[in-house]
Amino acid sequence: MTTIERAEVFVAGPGRNFVTLRITTSDGVTGLGDATLNGRELAVASYLRDHVVPLLIGRDPARIEDLWQYLYRGVYWRRGPVTMTAIAAVDTALWDIKGKVAGLPVHQLLGGRSRDGVTVYCHASGTDIPSLLDDVARFREAGYRAVRAQAAVPDVGGTYGVRKGTGIYEPANAALPEEQLWDTEAYLRFAPTYLTAVREEFGFDFHLLHDVHHRLTPIEAARFGKSVEDAQLFWMEDPTPAENQEAFRLIRQHTTTPIAVGEVLTSIWDVQHLITEQLIDYVRTTVVHAGGITHLRRIFDLAALYQVRTGSHGATDLSPITLAAAVQVDLTVPNFGIQEYMEHAEVTREVFPSGVTLSDGLLDVDDTPGLGVEYDEKAAARYPYDPKYLPVARRRDGSVHDW
Ligand SMILES: [Mg+2]
Repeated sequence: MTTIERAEVFVAGPGRNFVTLRITTSDGVTGLGDATLNGRELAVASYLRDHVVPLLIGRDPARIEDLWQYLYRGVYWRRGPVTMTAIAAVDTALWDIKGKVAGLPVHQLLGGRSRDGVTVYCHASGTDIPSLLDDVARFREAGYRAVRAQAAVPDVGGTYGVRKGTGIYEPANAALPEEQLWDTEAYLRFAPTYLTAVREEFGFDFHLLHDVHHRLTPIEAARFGKSVEDAQLFWMEDPTPAENQEAFRLIRQHTTTPIAVGEVLTSIWDVQHLITEQLIDYVRTTVVHAGGITHLRRIFDLAALYQVRTGSHGATDLSPITLAAAVQVDLTVPNFGIQEYMEHAEVTREVFPSGVTLSDGLLDVDDTPGLGVEYDEKAAARYPYDPKYLPVARRRDGSVHDW
């Protein structure tokens, strides 16, 4: 019988601290899983190295479902981002192995294509309205069919989602958390003006999205959603923190702006109420933080029953392994909505060579068996672990706000 012979955990850049799991079978087949949890990378690395890897050795890599149940139910302490990210890495690596053994890309194992390509949204941002409009124009010219728009609120430094300079947006940027100012009233007055300006400049023949980043109370979010209805957003993302799920019922009573939630949620039980009560329109759970391909499909199938569509988190805090896995899943699910996409830096793509392509605003993969992504361990070794934290937000009176 083929068994799992080795499982190795790597923590390395470039640009951020990606956690990568590589499983090798007794037949010499390897599978890759992403285990990156932005700002808490070493917790997942230790969970895998110290508690999960010893359980994998000698087991049958073909029994993906059984290993998922073993790791989830066997631990007693369930759910949560560290546990679910670790399980996700194992699950994703085993799907990679199963595809390689079968000689098929993972999307074929999941039932084959439901679509020609995966519609993505990109991140446009600006330090003011003119620079935001320039950025939207750049992405529209590049062929994107959907654009997320964020601009820095005047007199409020360091607004989330706004790129500094011309590089890739990277909020986890300091060895200790940077502290940023937040002003809800200034945001509520300003954000609708730039979303309106984007529509006035570019019209309505593309999807426009906006991320509120958990910053509002329920009634503030209701006010925001109502105030941007004429801009016809594809969604407003995370209008309020996801812990208080009744909040979305209140928001919905006031606005038809669609709601997307779930990038910080990690299991089907965390999104069950949101989906079955139809409190959201898009579920943003992702392969790496929601238990891997096996569990994410279960979430998406539940969502399909309630006409909730998918919209997985896909920023560059996830490695190209997650991106490849997300495309494999997104190609197949009937209730796919959209996929978040930020292009990884050239140096990152050298460490994780991948067959994922972008054309005409759609991501796709070829027929490479498995996930279609590799890991260059030697190249990665040039970028050792370097502590990085996401910022913390404070209001004008100095008190902590949601980042
Ligand atoms: Mg977000």
